[in-house]
Amino acid sequence: MKERNIMLSYQEAIRIVLERVSPLPAVEVPLQEALGRVLAEPVAARWDLPPADNSAMDGYALAFAGQEVGDELEVAGFAPAGNPFAGELLPGQAIKIMTGAPLPKGSDTIVPIEEVESTAAKIRLCRALHQGQHVRRRGEEIGRGELLLATGTPILSGEMGLLAAGGAERVTVFPAPRVALLSTGDELVELGTAPGPGQIVNSNYHLLSSRLREEGCEVLSLGVARDNLEELESLLTSGLGADMLVTTGGVSVGDRDHVQETLGKLGFEPAFWKVAIKPGKPVLFGTVKGHPVFGLPGNPAASAATFELFARPALRRLGGFSDPLPPRLRVTLTEEISGGEKRQRFIWGTLREQAGRYRFVPSARQGSGQNRSMQGSQALLPVAGGSGPLAAGSEVDVLLLRLPPGLS
Ligand code: AMP
Ligand code: MG
Repeated sequence: MKERNIMLSYQEAIRIVLERVSPLPAVEVPLQEALGRVLAEPVAARWDLPPADNSAMDGYALAFAGQEVGDELEVAGFAPAGNPFAGELLPGQAIKIMTGAPLPKGSDTIVPIEEVESTAAKIRLCRALHQGQHVRRRGEEIGRGELLLATGTPILSGEMGLLAAGGAERVTVFPAPRVALLSTGDELVELGTAPGPGQIVNSNYHLLSSRLREEGCEVLSLGVARDNLEELESLLTSGLGADMLVTTGGVSVGDRDHVQETLGKLGFEPAFWKVAIKPGKPVLFGTVKGHPVFGLPGNPAASAATFELFARPALRRLGGFSDPLPPRLRVTLTEEISGGEKRQRFIWGTLREQAGRYRFVPSARQGSGQNRSMQGSQALLPVAGGSGPLAAGSEVDVLLLRLPPGLS
């Protein structure tokens, strides 16, 4: 792609990414495989919840007939959960009942165990009661056939129990994307091989594959491509069957930066190369047969930033999330951020809670070559290009990457 005179802004670039990426075809999976996915079809309750009128307390079931404090009832049976009382309640009787047990025929009211004096055969009421107390009504949570969860709902732990209770053995979801990951560079060795002269460990594989796993993705590791056209072509080709392809390194303007040229031979339709951001300027994005392809820069902090700014939203769009962008959070800056940069900057930092508000503590390292920039970072602070310094104590909006404790 020709370099354009005016580089795209982050806003323009992310808009292009989201325009070009759409949700993967839905699949039906067993509920236990649906955690973290988004519903592609609504789910209806297969039965009433609860399935029958039942007791909300351990206590005694009785037929309300204006009983008062001091009245005595005969204990005529026992109804534990899972073993409903088969008989019928007569006037003057109560059935000992446990939480969750269906109400015995003829009863309509529960007296908690704490509100009676009991002997083996009798109870005496110690507190006034009203008809229907401590009874959970059949279908009061949801009725059979009613909507349990709508299309587009992310399935997190809070949804898992609800879906199971409603009988959703299988659900239709947008699947987790399968993502091919390729590192490029003559200097790279895999962790486990001691780096020789001029060599470094392929740390971006770990930096990015862990981010992919956070999104629930299946990672197809393509290893390392040396900076030559043949090896790049063959490894890139093997990544094109995935739902998305991510490469690192080799997208800048150096003599050995061959990723874009090689992709060009493989049907790559470029959307942009270079965005006016720091770190991450050389980021490349386009599609091959409709599948998104990201060429992330090799510098670790640039790789991680462009992953968060562009690749993660693309994954979330593939996965059917209605709002794929990182949420913004208003925080207080703990220290001054210098101004005077032409490109929009993204500053790594940590969130600290203080008196119910979050403060943003910029990482001590911001160099794009350093893995330490991202260590412990929970947010990225966007600083507009051309802006002056941001004062300590000022209120700013950060992009939330990871939830700090206490936020959900
Ligand atoms: P490049 O984008 O290929 O010009 O690489 C820029 C810088 O990132 C160089 O210092 C590379 O050594 C480094 N780099 C590239 N790929 C990786 C990787 N997979 N892991 C760690 N560092 C990398
Ligand atoms: Mg390189």
